[in-house]
Amino acid sequence: MKILVCNAGSTSLKYKLFDMPSERVISEGKIERVGDKNEGFFSFKNNIAEKLESDNKRVIPDYAAGIRAYLDFLVSSGAIKSLDEICAVGFKTVLSKDHYGVHIIDEAVLKGMEDYMVVAPAHNRCYLQAIRTFMDVMPETKLVGVFETAFHQTLDKEAYIYPLPYEWYEKYGIRRFGYHGASHSYIADVMTQKLGNSYRAVSCHLGGSSSLAAIVNGECRETSFGMSLQCGLPQSSRAGDFDPYLIFFLMKQGLSAEEIEESLQKKSGLLGISGVSNDLRDIEQAAETNDRAKLAIDIYIRELIRYISGYAGLMGGIDAICFTGGIGENSETVRSRVMEKLAFLGIIKGEKPRRGEISCITAHGSKVSVWVVPANEELGVARKTFSAIK
Ligand code: ADP
Repeated sequence: MKILVCNAGSTSLKYKLFDMPSERVISEGKIERVGDKNEGFFSFKNNIAEKLESDNKRVIPDYAAGIRAYLDFLVSSGAIKSLDEICAVGFKTVLSKDHYGVHIIDEAVLKGMEDYMVVAPAHNRCYLQAIRTFMDVMPETKLVGVFETAFHQTLDKEAYIYPLPYEWYEKYGIRRFGYHGASHSYIADVMTQKLGNSYRAVSCHLGGSSSLAAIVNGECRETSFGMSLQCGLPQSSRAGDFDPYLIFFLMKQGLSAEEIEESLQKKSGLLGISGVSNDLRDIEQAAETNDRAKLAIDIYIRELIRYISGYAGLMGGIDAICFTGGIGENSETVRSRVMEKLAFLGIIKGEKPRRGEISCITAHGSKVSVWVVPANEELGVARKTFSAIK
């Protein structure tokens, strides 16, 4: 049975086509810089006999265009003969009111996503567009939402209640949810494999969106995302933690709620501080000569240290730190600087990671092991989609 997984990140669109239950990847691909006026990078790869690859650059105006491009590639490259071969599409969906686990996508699930658009605007918009594109192109195929909030259902109440009027929780459901569940739960599985059943780890998913999770013995205990994805670490163009009263201050200066919201989503984070780009690659390059680019990286590192150290305190110690996501896997600068700052925990740097492999990057004798784990969110989504439609 062939299952396609659609992973629409805040800046990228990835897919993997699995044969299930063998879990063999038939084809995979990634489109970066979706919605950017600059050209995005395309890379599609088939893992079938002749290993056909396609790498090119073009402007991808939105998620619908990206999806149509990779569906065309699947058929034209011979990975499948027709789209009818795909039994189900699994989505790494983010947030739907009253739907926190795995759900066959129907109107109620879509309505829940619309209802919570204000909480997860960047992500719900991408997924609604992606899901509607599949409904249009493949109307008979089952669509399954594997929601990002599922892994964080184990948070203690003291970790998910905000210091706000308690009746807001009861009346409006205001609480911390947490996201990047597919990624953090994959890291939890890898850590259980490597360290056994008893450990305290911080998973750092660093990419277009960045979040951390404190994981104790495979279960999530803390997360840096909140009810929305507009908090925690600075994001590529979205704000991280900041003083919420600044919103009222800015409104008194004459800015409308819409203008502030737009700026918090599209003009903040690494882009807002640096003024250079929302892509860390560009910022790292600019930082040699540009003070604001350097400042953006310094603030990002500082926030990582603040969270990792805080979680170590809350867990009563720390055994491992894992880096994953586009930044976590690729930015030597970010990893090295975090490890240097956390040397007080007894971290001793070791070898560089092996590309595409789960790698321990601390030396023998390091009190905390540090890992680079290539994100594999799609496999978890494929497994859950397969179970949902069996
Ligand atoms: P998304 O959250 O959209 O799924 P990814 O996890 O794919 O994003 O991460 C994308 C981000 O990873 C890019 O915006 C870029 O900042 C960062 N990135 C990718 N490669 C590198 C690299 N070699 N060095 C630094 N940052 C990188």
